[in-house]
Amino acid sequence: MQITLLHHTPLNVCAHAIRTCWQSFENGDEGGEKDRALIDRVGNKFKHASTLEHLVYTFYIQGVSRALLQELARHRMASPSVKSTRYTLKELKECEPFAEDDFAAAQRFIVLTDNAQVDSASIKALNALQAILKSGVSNDIAKYALPESYKTELTWTINARSLQNFLHLRSNKAALWEIRDMAHNIYEILPREHQYLFETHLYTESKSDA
Ligand SMILES: Cc1cc2nc3c(=O)[nH]c(=O)nc-3n(C[C@H](O)[C@H](O)[C@H](O)COP(=O)(O)OP(=O)(O)OC[C@H]3O[C@@H](n4cnc5c(N)ncnc54)[C@H](O)[C@@H]3O)c2cc1C
Repeated sequence: MQITLLHHTPLNVCAHAIRTCWQSFENGDEGGEKDRALIDRVGNKFKHASTLEHLVYTFYIQGVSRALLQELARHRMASPSVKSTRYTLKELKECEPFAEDDFAAAQRFIVLTDNAQVDSASIKALNALQAILKSGVSNDIAKYALPESYKTELTWTINARSLQNFLHLRSNKAALWEIRDMAHNIYEILPREHQYLFETHLYTESKSDA
């Protein structure tokens, strides 16, 4: 998977929102130590957590499975725009069928699990889908034969309050290995000066070895 942080709100915007409540703008320091402490105190310790919604992050997430996608979509307090299989199955249709053990080539389209039995089954599903597409069946019907391992990508926007919840739920060992890896990757590419807002929500046991 590849994750890029496309955009984020500077900390001083959130501090400004908080200072609006008390009209204490003169205490602001443009996202410096005073603003950082204020955001943590009000947003986290005082539980005035709606103030954290002024911090918004937009990520471009590539090379994740549709299995991960359906779990990510459960996070209602976030906005996904997802690559449509209806419009993009042409790229699979135009390929040659994959040998069942050619994992290197097939991983252009599927997320590998490092379990050869599972990954070969995904390749079989990929080849079956490709044959269906080549026979002229429309994308709208053929897409029902997609394996869960099929790769997708999305632009995902989430605010800091919801991202805390996401990291808390999905960096944990109870979460699916792929979304757990995603949660850790997301944390790592956050701007360094923002990470302090999330570190207590992140489970720091080692990443998945699945
Ligand atoms: C380990 C694990 C296993 C899971 N297994 C399953 C499973 O087997 N089956 C399954 O269906 N799901 C499963 N889930 C998904 C889970 O139930 C949640 O849908 C998902 O984690 C999103 O969490 P959320 O609702 O807190 O996030 P969001 O939808 O982003 O919501 C954020 C917060 O907003 C508030 N909120 C949002 N909507 C409402 C609402 N309608 N009413 C009141 N408050 C609201 C809540 O405080 C919520 O925590 C699993 C999740 C995890 C982490």
